[in-house]
Amino acid sequence: MKSKLTQICVEKGCNNTALACRGLCWSCYSKGRRQGKWEIRYNDDPIDVNQLDLAYMSGFFDGEGSISLKVKTRPKVAIQVQIQISNSIKKPLEIFSKTFGGKIFKYHKKNKNELPQYKWGLNSARRSKVFIKSCMPYLKIKQDVGELALQALEIQIPHSKNNKKYTEEQLNVFYSIKNEIIRLNKCS
Ligand SMILES: [Zn+2]
Repeated sequence: MKSKLTQICVEKGCNNTALACRGLCWSCYSKGRRQGKWEIRYNDDPIDVNQLDLAYMSGFFDGEGSISLKVKTRPKVAIQVQIQISNSIKKPLEIFSKTFGGKIFKYHKKNKNELPQYKWGLNSARRSKVFIKSCMPYLKIKQDVGELALQALEIQIPHSKNNKKYTEEQLNVFYSIKNEIIRLNKCS
C-alpha cells in the first residue's frame, strides 16, 4: 500500500497537512486554538492506491462488507451511512484501515465456541464517500447500494460540519434511500 488519506488541520478553513498536536497544524496550534474534543480530519483528494489493491479490497468488501443507513432520534435526529466489514481474520481489515482510515474492534460472538471477530468501520461521512467512490468501479454486488449510499452521504456530509437540523424533505429522501438499500440487501 503506497499511501493513505492525508490528514489535515481540524481548524475551520485551514487545510494545512503538517500537523502538530490535537489535530491542529503548527500555525493553528501555536495560536492556542481548539481546546475541546476533536476528530481526525482528512482531505478529499483522490487517494493513491494501486488498481490491483483497490480491486482486491472491493472484492473483499463485496463479499464480507456491509453498507447500511442508520437513523438516531435521541438526543437529536442524526443520520449516518455505515460502512463495515466483519471478519475472524484481522489482517485484511488492516489494509482497509491503513488505506481509508477508520478503526478495528475485536468482539466475541454469543456462541463461545466461535472465533472472535474483528470489525472495521468508517464513521466519518467524508471518508465513507472516498471509500465508496474508490471501490465503485470494481464492485460487482454492492454497486447499486453504493450508488444509493453516495446519495445519502450528500445529505449527511454538509451536516457533519454544522449543527443545523435536517429538513423534513431531507429526512424523507434519506428514509426512502434506506428502505431501498434494505430491499436490495435482501434481494442479493
Ligand atoms: Zn491549521
